[in-house]
Amino acid sequence: MKASQFTFATLKETPSDADVASAKLMLRAGLIRKSASGLYSWLPMGLKTLQKVEKIIREEMNAINSQELLMPVVQSAELWQESGRWVDYGPELLRFKDRHDRDFVLGPTHEEVITDIARNLLKSYKQLPQCYYQIQTKFRDEIRPRFGVMRSREFIMKDAYSFHIDQASLQKTYDDMYGAYSRIFTRLGLDFRAVQADTGSIGGFASHEFQVLANSGEDDIVFSDTSDYAANIELAEAICNDTRPVPSQAKTDVATPNMPTCEQVAEHLGLPLSQTVKTLIVEGIDDENGKPTLVALVLRGDHSLNEIKAEKLAQVKAPLTFATEDAMKTAGLHKGYIGVFDLNMPVIVDKSASVLADFVSGANKPDFHTIGVNWERDAQITQVADIRNVVEGDPSPDGQGKLQIRRGIEVGHIFQLGDKYAKALNCAVMGEQGKPVITTMGCYGIGVTRIVAAAIEQNHDEQGIIWKISETGESLAPFDVAIVPMIKGKMKDANNDKAMQMATELYNDLKIKGVDVLLDDRDERAGVKFADLELVGIPHRIVISEKNIADNGDVTFEYVYRADGEKQMLTLDEVLAKIAV
Ligand code: ATP
Ligand code: MG
Repeated sequence: MKASQFTFATLKETPSDADVASAKLMLRAGLIRKSASGLYSWLPMGLKTLQKVEKIIREEMNAINSQELLMPVVQSAELWQESGRWVDYGPELLRFKDRHDRDFVLGPTHEEVITDIARNLLKSYKQLPQCYYQIQTKFRDEIRPRFGVMRSREFIMKDAYSFHIDQASLQKTYDDMYGAYSRIFTRLGLDFRAVQADTGSIGGFASHEFQVLANSGEDDIVFSDTSDYAANIELAEAICNDTRPVPSQAKTDVATPNMPTCEQVAEHLGLPLSQTVKTLIVEGIDDENGKPTLVALVLRGDHSLNEIKAEKLAQVKAPLTFATEDAMKTAGLHKGYIGVFDLNMPVIVDKSASVLADFVSGANKPDFHTIGVNWERDAQITQVADIRNVVEGDPSPDGQGKLQIRRGIEVGHIFQLGDKYAKALNCAVMGEQGKPVITTMGCYGIGVTRIVAAAIEQNHDEQGIIWKISETGESLAPFDVAIVPMIKGKMKDANNDKAMQMATELYNDLKIKGVDVLLDDRDERAGVKFADLELVGIPHRIVISEKNIADNGDVTFEYVYRADGEKQMLTLDEVLAKIAV
């Protein structure tokens, strides 16, 4: 491609509403333009990158015999009513009516549509397993679109779905997918981890998230410092091997005026935060008369509630809902001063809080806390449960090493669905025994547009984007090589210019070799071109000037590798070796 015929849409100023490095750089480098909140256009430079991601995904999906198809973006509400998600999905699902007043949705995901296809296509167990995928636009009306294309409302996803006669067959395809995902993210040059994830309310069997490590990530991921244990924080089990000491203090109320938080109380009393507890009041499941109930959750002051773990408890309503101030008042509770005793509701205590002795809790009266509190003697436990987030240094649940926590960007998710959708939509095949069998399903997503942003989060500098060349020699760079001829005067008059001739020759040569090469023949100052090429992140830059062409025609090329910025004077063969052709 000649740069004079290609739209460079680089910006000098950073758009003011861009909130993370990747969003700033994607806008400044002219990869994307914002159309409205959470809606972006991919400009030619960005689309080239996106298509490189898609190519790698397609190759790896095809390699595990997943078949590409394409489903409609607009989906009939009837399918969503059949699955029950018309009610369950909530406001992220954009619903609308057509001119005949019929309900439709903009697809946020395609379990319903694919299951409808499968129930019509698949008749016998002999046809199974089957796996289908598509690369297509999704719409989710995210409550807070942010971070550019990382959390947008419209985005491109690769979504795959598999159908099986039994769990063993699902497990095999799941393992194949795990392998394919690992190869995809390796080829993309991402520093990633596959982490165990929560299967949530769907109640599937197994699930892994593929997380790209980056400080701007929205997820906390947890690893062991010695073993290969890795999990999403939602799932990571908090281990507590301590035993409760015997009580040594009497229970005493102390004045703590205007000190509703554990931090304030611990500081005031000169005690460690880990010696205090907090009581959180959440909504319980309705009682036998259909009346709302409350549940108390007790955690150590230095620990935080894991809502996913808590909402799985039988007494607790899902999704987890904190009690309103009114409900607390009616129950005679004072926010910031709630104790662990005299509570007329189930008291569920986190494991780590349950092994405390002589601890501090609210006194159940405003402006007072109680010190020297002890379980059983002063307060009763209904149930001990793991309801907290793990913290750095906790023992690893697999018994090996201690836990570390890092931020991650979820770029992929594989999930064993079981029969949730197949049952609801009656996707059955004739089984080996001559009886219909409900199929077992898996679903597998990759955030195609999010990957581009995640790659930039991992690799960039002051000058712009750095597209890493992966261990398989691939990169997402829109162009692999830029050739810059240094000429005097205007490009249109440069036909006889030696540097231009050499540049064009090299350009044609590389094109024939299949290299994605850009000839920067724009009428711009060299400094402007270099800044643009660095911003866009073209990995290899080759500058050709007349001063480096010897009388006998030998050329010395000025070569710069974007990732280290080092300038080298090289022969043609050395340049070709650098760009690996
Ligand atoms: P998240 O927790 O980030 O909201 P999710 O669990 O809703 O993700 P899935 O339903 O598993 O996501 O979707 C598959 C993939 O699609 C995700 O792994 C992610 O990479 C991508 N994705 C999800 N939501 C968005 C979004 N709003 N913008 C861009 N990509 C997204
Ligand atoms: Mg989501």
